[in-house]
Amino acid sequence: MNEKHEQYRFNTKLIHSTAGGGAYGAVNVPIYQTSTFAFRSAEHGAKFFAGEIEGYMYTRIGNPTVKALEDSIAGLENGFGGIATSSGLGAVTTVCMALLEQRTHVVSTASVYGPSRGLLEDQLARFGVEATFVDTSDVGNVEKALRANTRMVYIETPSNPAMQVTDLRAVAALAKARGSVFVVDNTFATPYLQRPLDLGADVVLHSVTKFINGHADVVGGMIVTRDEALYRRVRPLMVNLGCCMDPHQAFLVLRGLKTLAVRLDRAQQNAMTIACWLERHPKVAWVHHLGLESHPQHELAKKQMSGFGSVFSFELKGGVEAGRRLMDNVRLATLAVSLGGVETLIEHPASMTHAGMSRESRIAAGITDGLVRYSTGIEDVEDLVADLEQALAVA
Ligand SMILES: *Cc1c(COP(=O)(O)O)cnc(C)c1O
Repeated sequence: MNEKHEQYRFNTKLIHSTAGGGAYGAVNVPIYQTSTFAFRSAEHGAKFFAGEIEGYMYTRIGNPTVKALEDSIAGLENGFGGIATSSGLGAVTTVCMALLEQRTHVVSTASVYGPSRGLLEDQLARFGVEATFVDTSDVGNVEKALRANTRMVYIETPSNPAMQVTDLRAVAALAKARGSVFVVDNTFATPYLQRPLDLGADVVLHSVTKFINGHADVVGGMIVTRDEALYRRVRPLMVNLGCCMDPHQAFLVLRGLKTLAVRLDRAQQNAMTIACWLERHPKVAWVHHLGLESHPQHELAKKQMSGFGSVFSFELKGGVEAGRRLMDNVRLATLAVSLGGVETLIEHPASMTHAGMSRESRIAAGITDGLVRYSTGIEDVEDLVADLEQALAVA
């Protein structure tokens, strides 16, 4: 599906797989803001419905602007095809509902994105799907959790916000031996830093809301499958659930995607500088950043990723109270959930993004009460450090 840009390197693919190619020599992909597409004749329409010809007839099923984004991200992930969704959660729901059925079982990362866990535990459980959540950074835990009816292994790495890394090659081997489909949420790393399909995954999904769009102005999702058979199983679910992406949304994501690599290069360089500085600060208890040698999976991260990303977490010696004062006193970093945008965001998972989990599950997922999450933007790093310095002085 994406043979056109296969021979190019990542940055070239980023720019040229998101380019126009439409009418009038347009350099960018036009927004086909239309719900329906005219048939040339009654016979032409009938052939569409009989599945005899390909093309566009209704935007929930497919749209040229959305298709451009699907092809682009599928190419970046080295997959067969992309399926765009209205949100990241739409992608998670589509994949789970397409590939699971009653009396099947899922093994997943304990610190998986909260609402993904909620989907399995609260919603799909009603349809007879069982799920076990384990610390997948220890592959032995995955092996122990597998059952005869384990149909899917669902991994998020690096995990949010504890920054635990799961060995994708090792899990791929386990899933394959068991005949389970291996799904990876690659939102945090993006195809720039990690390509799970190359490491043995069957399906990759994204919240493009985060790094891929990168400008905190769109919510969206994407699924990429390794092969055509999986693509044909998953795509109808998106159409039936009705969680399609809108053409205007797709246009904005195409625009954001072009600068993914330059944004991430800058953001992760900033993050590394700040994490090193924080680790030496007398008021800081610990910093979880994949690039620090103190991180327990630093070597694994180096092996399966081509960079350490721009999100990290830390805790102050003064615990929850000191963390709160820090978040109330930063002036440049914005106190908000979400991540992966050009602007720096700070938040407190235990009382915000992960408040829905029991304290016990949070601690098991490495999310201590005082943990502060920092999503580094592309501002000047000296200003970000000065901002933290003045906030730490009063924390
Ligand atoms: C945000 C996020 C999601 C959900 O995506 P939405 O676009 O908010 O629906 C899923 N997985 C991860 C890792 C996320 O960070």
